[in-house]
Amino acid sequence: MIKVCKFGGTSMACAETLRRVKEILQSDPSRRYAVVSAPGKRFGGERKVTDLLYEAHRELERTGNFGENFEKIKIRIKGVSDELRLEKSLDTDALLRATEREIKERKSEAFTVSRGEYLAAKLMAAYQGVPFLDAADLIVFRGDGTLDEAATDRKIAKALKETERAVIPGFYGADEKGNVVCFPRGGSDISGAVVARAAGADLYENWTDVSGFLVCDPRIVENPAKIETLTYRELRTLSYMGASVLHIETLFPVREAGIPIRILNTFRPEDKGTTIVKSRKTAAGTIAGLAGKKGYTAICIEKTLLSDRVGGVRKILEILDGNGVPLCLLPSGIDRISVLTESEHLRGGKAEKLMREIEGELRTERVWTMTGLALIAAVGQGMQGSVGAAARVLKAVAQAGVNVRLIDQGSQEELLFCVDEGDFERALRAVYEEFFIR
Ligand code: ASP
Repeated sequence: MIKVCKFGGTSMACAETLRRVKEILQSDPSRRYAVVSAPGKRFGGERKVTDLLYEAHRELERTGNFGENFEKIKIRIKGVSDELRLEKSLDTDALLRATEREIKERKSEAFTVSRGEYLAAKLMAAYQGVPFLDAADLIVFRGDGTLDEAATDRKIAKALKETERAVIPGFYGADEKGNVVCFPRGGSDISGAVVARAAGADLYENWTDVSGFLVCDPRIVENPAKIETLTYRELRTLSYMGASVLHIETLFPVREAGIPIRILNTFRPEDKGTTIVKSRKTAAGTIAGLAGKKGYTAICIEKTLLSDRVGGVRKILEILDGNGVPLCLLPSGIDRISVLTESEHLRGGKAEKLMREIEGELRTERVWTMTGLALIAAVGQGMQGSVGAAARVLKAVAQAGVNVRLIDQGSQEELLFCVDEGDFERALRAVYEEFFIR
């Protein structure tokens, strides 16, 4: 059994959290490979090391100096090293001096911001007494910045064969010239997934500071139920809609390989967490989770015979593409279609421009907008093929006195609908109560 464990920024924040991480790793011999983030916040108001590094890079470009940002990082790293008494296994002063020098020489933003993970992994490896493997030697990016999966798999598989245990920094890799390249922010989750796949892991444990996913946003529903299992597909929809425990690109490497992901809490390791799997048993008519977001606009189009003729929808989509506006949903009726997108994509008169272009190109009867919409998704494999699940969702919303402005059911596993932003919280609470309290 091989487990790859990714530890997030709060797990790497200070000596005390590194102690917890070591305990977690040592309590289960199959937890062989750890992928770590840069130290995060120790308390509210403090800045994450990665944020300080971005700032340090900007300062370096502007003035030729780091300002105080790199000093703060040095103090934090040295503090952890001293508190954990790493002096025999790691020359932290020399490491920090070399890192500072290299940052100044390379003058690369990606290199600079990757040093948070690099230093955290050096500390963790020394503290745990296992080899440090540099992600720059394992995770391969192409010249265009995309991940070379095949080359990465080969390199990681080879390196891990030679070591039973290791600590690997998350967030970055390198191209073939040795230039460091980073994943997007929050990307250590992706590094962990990539390592899990290449290691042929049985489980990818993602250790963070919450005990998995909740059925609904706790800022809206008081003390919501926990989700024990989710499918990759259900997670994709919930994450798209704003449930943000895990970077969404984490899914893709492990989903292909069928490796389950388990979200666990470093600060409550006894909690079960949420496990994400390919498929799961679900009771008919149940939902797994609810999510939603405000800030949507629909552009609604009416055109006689749009539903009979070929090519009208293509033209609409081309106009969206031409204006760089991503499409979220496309609910349609007979001769009517609504294009739903996040309102921020339509700023600066873009909605009017799109409407003019659509009117001109399609010779429509009417084009209008619905603004101030909130999108809600009720998600669950259990909705598939069961009688009445969608009706229960909509009945709950109706009983709360909320008007549904748009409905879309792209698949039988998710029902998506829009309400006015002012009704958002009420609608979510009503559906939550219908499915999880009654
Ligand atoms: N440290 C990086 C960030 O703050 C990557 C990560 O933690 O996943 O975005």
